Amino acid sequence: MSDDWIMIVPRLPEHIPSSDKAEAALGLLETSMPDADEFEVIQKEHVQFFDCGANLETIDCPQCSANIGFDWWGETMSSDYDEERGFRLDAYPVPCCSKPVALNELVYQFHQAFGCFALSVMNPNIGKLSDDALKEIEVALGCEVSVVYRHL
Ligand SMILES: [Zn+2]
Repeated sequence: MSDDWIMIVPRLPEHIPSSDKAEAALGLLETSMPDADEFEVIQKEHVQFFDCGANLETIDCPQCSANIGFDWWGETMSSDYDEERGFRLDAYPVPCCSKPVALNELVYQFHQAFGCFALSVMNPNIGKLSDDALKEIEVALGCEVSVVYRHL
């Protein structure tokens, strides 16, 4: 058995929508995904990593598009993370072109996100969120979001 999640994360990692807005957006998800197993509002004091699990195929540099090795990424993830403060999202010189890039600026295929807040739906059974549905959620939350499709 395997499971899938859709996680909706604000583009600004520090941003936490008000509980009214979170409730409204959650209501939209519950209506549009009636077959889902579980809905959850995740809220943390510090920036966390929302990973795509087995969907991760490649990581690319946003500056020069070169492929970034998993070794460099793993080491940088460890040095950027502090158990008490979460991810700092500092900029590090990437191995390809030495430009300063933060972990949340790398191009992940599938997408992965960093944030203090997420709406998470387990086994949503809808495939991909439509652009229209995403727009509605952004309006309800009052912020731009990105979507992580996690597979385990
Ligand atoms: Zn580069």
